[in-house]
Amino acid sequence: MEGRLEFDRWFGRPGTLVLQPTTLCNLDCVYCYLPFRRLSREMSPEVAQAVADSAADLIDRSGRLDIVWHGGEPLALGLRKFSALLAPFEELRHAGRIQHSVQTNATLIDNEWCDLLARHQVRVGVSIDGPAALNARRVDLRGRPALDRIVRGIGRLRDHGIRFSLIAVVGTEGIEQPESLLDFLAGLGPHTIGLVDDLIGICTLENSDPLQAAKFDNKPSWDNGKKGGFDNKPSWDNWSKKK
Ligand code: SF4
Repeated sequence: MEGRLEFDRWFGRPGTLVLQPTTLCNLDCVYCYLPFRRLSREMSPEVAQAVADSAADLIDRSGRLDIVWHGGEPLALGLRKFSALLAPFEELRHAGRIQHSVQTNATLIDNEWCDLLARHQVRVGVSIDGPAALNARRVDLRGRPALDRIVRGIGRLRDHGIRFSLIAVVGTEGIEQPESLLDFLAGLGPHTIGLVDDLIGICTLENSDPLQAAKFDNKPSWDNGKKGGFDNKPSWDNWSKKK
């Protein structure tokens, strides 16, 4: 308890807990940095129960904890097993004390998954890097492009009225064509788009040229025009209308 009080004194109560239900991923993106993505090491329901018990203790009386299910590919765990991991959190969720999120490549999303995600009010973030040429590094274990399956999964989310955000890793090609990248992503109907250039080397993409990256980051105003300076207004206007 003393250690816990010391932790709180220095860091405060955590607002987010990131959980890895499985190390496995059904894709094999060229830039992926996860060493165990071909292995299936799964979280057990007992561990989920223990985390839920701890989560109850971590949340301060007025607060809420975000539980982010990350991978690997979290949905590669399978619907039944994933459902069993969510079960221990139900009391906290019904009390409004936790909020689930999942970060997924969307390739496995079908109607059953949509039902589960909707039932547990899971916020969904989808990883997609852009149209075919820009998404080419995202392939399955046989090296086949994953784009069609990602877009199909996103379509299922839309069909079920499940809101989702998109996050794209932007390499040197994408950095040169921000407007078409944004138009493609916006056309999929997300509520938010996150763009990650690899200047800081999170992934194993070739590093972007710093000047190119600065141009990408600063010239178009990605924050809905609040900073001004977005040169290609039609793209942004189109996106705003689609929202
Ligand atoms: S979908 Fe994510 S976890 Fe899977 S290979 Fe691609 S980057 Fe890695």
